[in-house]
Amino acid sequence: MQLTDRQLEIIEIVKKDQPITSENIAVKLNLSRSALRNDLSLLNMIGILEAKTNVGYFYVEKNLSSDLKDLLSNVTVDSVMSIPVVMDEKIPVYDGVVSMFIEDVGTLFVVSDGYLAGVVSRKDFMKNIMGTSDLTGTPLGMIMTRMPNIIYAYPLESVCSAASKLINHEIDSMPVIEKVLINGEEKLKIIGRISKTTITRIFVDLVDGHLGGNE
Ligand code: ADP
Repeated sequence: MQLTDRQLEIIEIVKKDQPITSENIAVKLNLSRSALRNDLSLLNMIGILEAKTNVGYFYVEKNLSSDLKDLLSNVTVDSVMSIPVVMDEKIPVYDGVVSMFIEDVGTLFVVSDGYLAGVVSRKDFMKNIMGTSDLTGTPLGMIMTRMPNIIYAYPLESVCSAASKLINHEIDSMPVIEKVLINGEEKLKIIGRISKTTITRIFVDLVDGHLGGNE
């Protein structure tokens, strides 16, 4: 909502001299009290000013960061995750690079017997390509960052927590996993992908009002 110059002026006066009565605001603006009535009731209605009987008007501090935190802590990874690009550890590096281009991703998730075994990023490919020319003979399993060093997210984790993991570990993306027990052994099933792009999209959606029920 676009506030008028007068409404902005009223807010500044209240911020400076609160609590302040409508009579005193009117005096400062050189206007009659009745000329201010609509502006004051609108500012009160939209929660910028609070009116206390026999005391006057107060400015309501809006804590943007705590509002944002409340909103974002309710957004879970499963509601924003994207489709992962998953390849078997035996696939040759050459095919991995081709898939990275075709699928337009920066990270491939690698599986062994269908469960998370590692991650291959652009830099892993570059390192390998500079060190060897056997792109068809080297499997992804040889060049990947492997378990147990893989950072992952859970579907019901908040996106704030997932974003912290990406930043703290300096990685571009993570698999979203579900833990399963296979013959008494814990395995990680890949069900999605969360990346820095996902987090950037949330930020854009927030600004466009597509998050937090403002649609
Ligand atoms: P890029 O290579 O495009 O800079 P990253 O910054 O994500 O991409 O990767 C840097 C290193 O971190 C690579 O060696 C990669 O294997 C590793 N890596 C990427 N994602 C993860 C992850 N989720 N868990 C553990 N290591 C990862």
